[in-house]
Amino acid sequence: STASNSRVSPATQELDEAVRRARDMAQARAAFLANMSHEIRTPLNGMLGMIALALDSGLAAEQRQQLSIAHDSGKVLVELLNDILDLSKFDAGQLELERIPFDLGAMVEDTANLLSQNAAPSVELTCLIAPDFPSTVLGDPTRVRQIVSNLLSNALKFTRFGRVDVRLSSIVGGVRLEVSDTGIGIPEEAQARIFQPFTQAGAGITRQYGGTGLGLALTRNLCKAMQGHLHIHSETGFGSRFSADLPLPAHTEAIPPAAISGRVVALGNPGSGLAELLQGLLPRWGLDYTRHEDASALAGLPVDLLITDDLEHVLDLRPAIAAPILLVTAYGNFLPAEQAEQLQPLQQLARPLARNALYQTLRRTLHGEPNAPLPHEVPAMRELRARILLVEDNPVNQLVAKGMLGKLGCQVQVAAHGQEALDCLERDTFDLVLMDCNMPVMDGYEASRRIRQSSRWPELPIVALTANAMPEERERCRAAGMNDYLAKPFRREELLALIEHWVPVSG
Ligand code: ADP
Repeated sequence: STASNSRVSPATQELDEAVRRARDMAQARAAFLANMSHEIRTPLNGMLGMIALALDSGLAAEQRQQLSIAHDSGKVLVELLNDILDLSKFDAGQLELERIPFDLGAMVEDTANLLSQNAAPSVELTCLIAPDFPSTVLGDPTRVRQIVSNLLSNALKFTRFGRVDVRLSSIVGGVRLEVSDTGIGIPEEAQARIFQPFTQAGAGITRQYGGTGLGLALTRNLCKAMQGHLHIHSETGFGSRFSADLPLPAHTEAIPPAAISGRVVALGNPGSGLAELLQGLLPRWGLDYTRHEDASALAGLPVDLLITDDLEHVLDLRPAIAAPILLVTAYGNFLPAEQAEQLQPLQQLARPLARNALYQTLRRTLHGEPNAPLPHEVPAMRELRARILLVEDNPVNQLVAKGMLGKLGCQVQVAAHGQEALDCLERDTFDLVLMDCNMPVMDGYEASRRIRQSSRWPELPIVALTANAMPEERERCRAAGMNDYLAKPFRREELLALIEHWVPVSG
């Protein structure tokens, strides 16, 4: 009430004032970082896009490798930029979380697959997703992916031998995501410290392993923002386990795939991730499954398919065993063609095994059937025939976007600014407009407003392309009549998903 307000002590007023000032400063810093990140993103977008296009063309192996490294380094730079920007958004209270259904199991498998190239040669990376895990949950897929990817990158970075596992299971009211490793571990006294920004467990860490000390600070903030918890359990020399309990409710329950029949035998040691994964999945899929540690136990066994990650034994076994073999290999370690030829019938899958890829391979090998998608599987990439109007003034960005769209099978027309875009729309028919925001002559906001005002193209989707990653920017685009938003630099998959969403499949 007014009466009590008037009695507020000077100390409280000072405190309020200080809090307000701190909040203002955090917001000014966030805005500064957003502008900086804009300036850095634009040239990065050109660089990464051009390298990606060059990588798609015919190249000598050595040049391909050099360009791949340049591309990977660029991607790390973008991630670093995103991390810094995200952290500053937390400080300024500007982080917004989405709440949409997504397939968390498949996302974990995808992320693990992407990061598997960072696994040391003697590390086995496995995704263990509880069989009853919901096929979709509700939450913010981008932010959950950041959590998975931060925890998993650390586990792989600090582990030289043994196992790295990502587990996903249901808990009351949500999900538990657990990343465990058999790496160097974290001393007890450092365990609280490492969640601070720019802090690492020990002085030698940067020199030996690199890193910026931002990943865990961000991960913990993300978990908190989702009303979840991040726990750590670690012992020096034995490994670490990070588990995130997140209240992401189930959206669609697990759908068990059609049963497969056959006798599957695995050869390998009981303590492996592969053994755990197969034991969890195969009996559920209806298979008659057994595992043996010793190759000599296989003699005379009735077998329809043998699964192993032990190449040496496969080479010894081949003449004696006639059944098809599924060889599980490490990243980039598929057998050379002529060796694979000698071991026919042979299937190869790279670690970490994804449920769908394994299911399809088993079904194909045991039933001789062509691919039947798992019930929740997304349809494979198709040729898009969309007619796209690309409105973009920067010639490098024009080339990048045009190249990507062309590869996806789209027809592209380029307009250098808003007025030119309006002229193009008068002349031709388009399925989608990709609209840069800041352009000379007429900017993207104005052009979008005019398109909406004219009501001649009421159904035409307009997607903003912008390097400004702040939430206000999203709002501004929406207010101008744009339907969606794509932050630069974007990847081809993001572009594809966007087009698939906005351009309905025709006949
Ligand atoms: P960065 O990995 O870039 O240094 P993080 O914030 O992700 O930053 O991690 C902070 C520190 O925590 C690391 O430098 C490392 O000392 C320690 N750490 C994190 N994860 C692990 C892990 N799985 N095993 C051992 N140490 C870890």
